[in-house]
Amino acid sequence: MTRFLLVTDLDNTLVGDQAALERLNQQLMQLRQEQDILLAYSTGRSHDSYLKLKATEPLLDPDALVTSVGTEIYYQNSRTPDPDWSRTLDNGWVREDILAITAHFQDLVLQPASEQRPYKVSFYLAPHLASDLVPRLKVALHIRGLDTKIVYSGGKDLDILPLGGDKGQALLFLREQFDISAEQTIVCGDSGNDQALFSVGKERGVVVGNAQPELLQWYKEHGADYHYLATRSCAAGILEGLHHFRLLS
Ligand SMILES: [Mg+2]
Repeated sequence: MTRFLLVTDLDNTLVGDQAALERLNQQLMQLRQEQDILLAYSTGRSHDSYLKLKATEPLLDPDALVTSVGTEIYYQNSRTPDPDWSRTLDNGWVREDILAITAHFQDLVLQPASEQRPYKVSFYLAPHLASDLVPRLKVALHIRGLDTKIVYSGGKDLDILPLGGDKGQALLFLREQFDISAEQTIVCGDSGNDQALFSVGKERGVVVGNAQPELLQWYKEHGADYHYLATRSCAAGILEGLHHFRLLS
């Protein structure tokens, strides 16, 4: 029995075309009877926001759920994030100090409290301001000794994360937990915060056909032969990728 880990982003990757999602679910359920398939969702949403999505979309229960851009990891139906993962993010992370600096950037609009997490500070930022503001913010944080990761995604979300915490680092941690190699892993995404999923190792990657310009640009510059750019959108693009990587015949 071949083990396989499928990791997918939710909004505009797995979710976005309900008919295609139902087709994919069907195939995954069938595949799960023949192979040891592990399913993980990796989303920018908070856990609460994931539950809201789950109430309206036909989502299979995943084996692991990575929320808040890789900063929280949940297993099965647990409501508490993996404390070992949280501990690794603590190093050098001082939320209040970050907020004191971002307060000087008036174009950053703080996202609602539900999206502010222990290891994620989130803003909205208009796309035409991003290329100027992001480098200045990076410098401002760095000179105060706050080494963080800034991720701009979907032409609107700016997330500040601990240096060791993004979707890619969380994927590495998950692979270790499940004892699964990069070659036995398929990752799927559509936007900037998914870039990290495609850049950890030699995980098979599916960029869905409706991907955002920032991810398409990344694919153009860094895409490898173990990455696949689908022509179809959302779950139909994932299905296409699973055929491409011969997980489905
Ligand atoms: Mg997305």
